[in-house]
Amino acid sequence: MQRQKIEMNLLSTCLPKSSPKRNNQSDTMCTQKPTTRLMVVKMVQVRMRTPILRGDGIMYKGQKFYNGISFKECVTDYALLTSSNLKQYRYDRDAIRFKCIGAKGKCGWQVYAPSLGDDPFWRITLYKDKHICIPNGECAMFSVPVIARIFLDKIREEPEYYMLAKMEKIEMEMWKISVTRPQCQASRRKALGWISSEYDTQFTHLRDYGAEIMESNPGSVVDIDTVKNDVGEDVFNQFYVLRKTWKASCRPLIGVDGCFLKVKIKGQLLAALGRDADNAIYPIAWSVVQVENTDKWQWFVNRLKIDLDLGDGDGYIIMSDRQKGLIKAIELELPKVEHRKCVRHIYGNLKKIHPSKKLLKKYLWDLAWSYNTTEYYQNLERIHAYDSKVHEDVMKTKPKTWCRAFHKLDNYCEDVENNSIESFNNTINKAREKPFVAMLEMVRKIAMVRIAKRRNVSKKSVISDRIPTECFKKIHHFRQITDRFL
Ligand SMILES: [Zn+2]
Repeated sequence: MQRQKIEMNLLSTCLPKSSPKRNNQSDTMCTQKPTTRLMVVKMVQVRMRTPILRGDGIMYKGQKFYNGISFKECVTDYALLTSSNLKQYRYDRDAIRFKCIGAKGKCGWQVYAPSLGDDPFWRITLYKDKHICIPNGECAMFSVPVIARIFLDKIREEPEYYMLAKMEKIEMEMWKISVTRPQCQASRRKALGWISSEYDTQFTHLRDYGAEIMESNPGSVVDIDTVKNDVGEDVFNQFYVLRKTWKASCRPLIGVDGCFLKVKIKGQLLAALGRDADNAIYPIAWSVVQVENTDKWQWFVNRLKIDLDLGDGDGYIIMSDRQKGLIKAIELELPKVEHRKCVRHIYGNLKKIHPSKKLLKKYLWDLAWSYNTTEYYQNLERIHAYDSKVHEDVMKTKPKTWCRAFHKLDNYCEDVENNSIESFNNTINKAREKPFVAMLEMVRKIAMVRIAKRRNVSKKSVISDRIPTECFKKIHHFRQITDRFL
């Protein structure tokens, strides 16, 4: 609930209106600020981090706000912008006052906003905007909750980066405000507490979210599983969404992989992706589990098996990395499936063992693409001649499980790598930083947009509605080759 309030607050900071003329002292301060701010932005960009975004802190008499929190946020922005030593003087449910306590309490700056009568808005009814003080880095209004709110989103994104010293440094460099280490410590703890309660709140909405998906997306399957914690409460265990449309329209190949979730949601996102007739990515199912192990993989593969009616796996292909839990789960659930291992992962592992072997990549991919067993043994021999230790390590990866020469006939897809799932993981990268339900919703939207786009492409198929674009390109390519021999 706390987080929802904060989001509302940030969304509704204040209602825009033409900005008032500012006094000279404020203008002087503004000319100093951008330089500092640009430096910080530049520093952040180098590290590929987004800057902390705040409002402009502009205030004027008559300005209205959706609530008291929005007003306080605006005053916080003003304090950050001007480095003024503001202090809150009234905490009533329907009125808030801030004064500047600089110049030994003689500075006359103050702002007062009440919520009057039936008016749903809070309005500034008193605003004395002249300072006689000189900022000295102190700011009384910077209590623990205020600092926590400033850093909340950043701590959610990168909790290990926004540690105490970093928070202290940003406060000073960006806003010229001095905060103590214990203040930062308490603020960080508070922000983490908010994030934690937000996590719990999200789970309480999970069942509603699941029901909504089922209702608005016919052909979907949703499964939410909870377990009892030490005090007998239901807590999240796993969540699963599947779209049944895959079987009717796609190739019988499923790529599976897991990726870590970021921030507070400690867990893994497991995904299963198919290929449509045009060999493009088709999201089938995704799931969130607390840990990635054999049991969780078996649960996920079992759900795919039941919901997609895969039987013992005969006639289907699974593509994945060489994750032990996953391999075991597939053996148990789909014993007759053709399980291809992704050569990209194999190469990644071998490269770590043999970093100086420049030809490893070429030889390994040549081996993976071997068209028949003769070519396979020739390519293997070439690797042996190149380096016997590399050959030994290649053999340990069971190359017949990732080489094209050993694909079953009628496999409908000759891929030797699981690149579609890597690409999908990249597209949902931003979603993985979000709170739980928001993350699931973003993944769902990305999946649905992708499916809709592919449907449009297939409708515009070049030759007819029976031959997809990529297939047509291949046919055209082979036709050009054969023409040369005629
Ligand atoms: Zn002042």
